Amino acid sequence: MQVYLVGGAVRDALLGLPVKERDWVVVGATPQAMEAAGFRAVGRDFPVFLHPETHEEHALARLERKTGSGYRGFSTEFSPHVTLEEDLRRRDLTINAIAQSADGALTDPYGGLADLHARILRHVSPAFSEDPLRVLRVARFAARFAPLGFSIAPETLTLMKRMSESGELTTLSPERVWRETELALATGQPERFFSVLRASAALAQVMPELDALLQKSPQGAIATAALHVAAAAGAEGPVRWAALVGDLDENEQSALQSRLRVPNAYSELAIVTHRLSRLMNAGHHSHDHLLTDAGKLLELLESADALRRAERFEAWLGVYAARTEAAGQPVQRIAALCSRLKKAQKACAAVKLDKSELEALPGPAIAAHLRERRLQALRELK
Ligand code: ATP
Ligand code: MG
Repeated sequence: MQVYLVGGAVRDALLGLPVKERDWVVVGATPQAMEAAGFRAVGRDFPVFLHPETHEEHALARLERKTGSGYRGFSTEFSPHVTLEEDLRRRDLTINAIAQSADGALTDPYGGLADLHARILRHVSPAFSEDPLRVLRVARFAARFAPLGFSIAPETLTLMKRMSESGELTTLSPERVWRETELALATGQPERFFSVLRASAALAQVMPELDALLQKSPQGAIATAALHVAAAAGAEGPVRWAALVGDLDENEQSALQSRLRVPNAYSELAIVTHRLSRLMNAGHHSHDHLLTDAGKLLELLESADALRRAERFEAWLGVYAARTEAAGQPVQRIAALCSRLKKAQKACAAVKLDKSELEALPGPAIAAHLRERRLQALRELK
């Protein structure tokens, strides 16, 4: 049997990037031979084995054939006669279809090296269109490698568009769509993921609510810029997501986020972002009144549930900063307002009623008294 390093590990090493995970392909072996060599079988849909010592994944070389619709509509065929070239041909992009043997020699039947140097994401073969997940993967690679200057080959984009228009993307499970989205949000230029999905007509299929928002002017450009600013600031995934979708209304957010089963850390922040932006914009063009108006400040903190959810409030400040910067507010003023809001949160959180105060008050009056003390703390805020 011959063993080759494949996929991201080869690609990233050639790009001079750190390699986190190594995938191997084994040619000329049977499951029995693998087990006899000490590998442990783990694959469910096709034969994958873990190396006895490194525990790295070793897949038997295989062929894939389209049998039905959607990403599950595949039959895989493996045998000791499947060649390395055949296995590489079923892969998505040429830069992901380079194999390296133990002596370092590269097998590159589809021009992956040339595309790596030319910084091009190009599909390997027409079989690309058999798996709609690949549209999302290419968008994600575009976002991840955008800082290196990668772009999508025109013929690949054309194919992606055709795949979207066929309606096949709607067969993707919400989990897979969200998984790709979450990974994309963590990349250097996550806004590329969404712009590629728009350019390939895929966004309307998988996130119609967001697609509609991004088409609006100027909201679409601001949402995209807000995501860019949040990512450039190194914000966490939920902050990036909320920066992008914060302008969707409650119904749109709820439709989008429940359909994709977006985790609470993301969805709650998006909901709070929308709620607070309505509160802050009600009747005001500038948010500067928050620097001076204790009543408004407290209303904002209450609406954000900022005292019980201090961490989420802090995350929201990041969303707010990204969104206001994207909307053209001066960075210094945003920073001043955010530090003011943080101080306000701390000052209110520090308000505690002592035992004698509590004992002197009838139960129903406690909340009102506490609120009054918080207002007082906010009025005294320097
Ligand atoms: P990463 O660094 O994110 O792990 P990767 O390229 O290694 O990037 P994996 O998802 O680990 O991506 O997949 C390993 C390899 O398997 C890919 O490089 C590609 O060759 C192939 N592959 C994975 N998913 C698909 C798919 N849906 N269609 C075609 N080929 C795929
Ligand atoms: Mg990998």
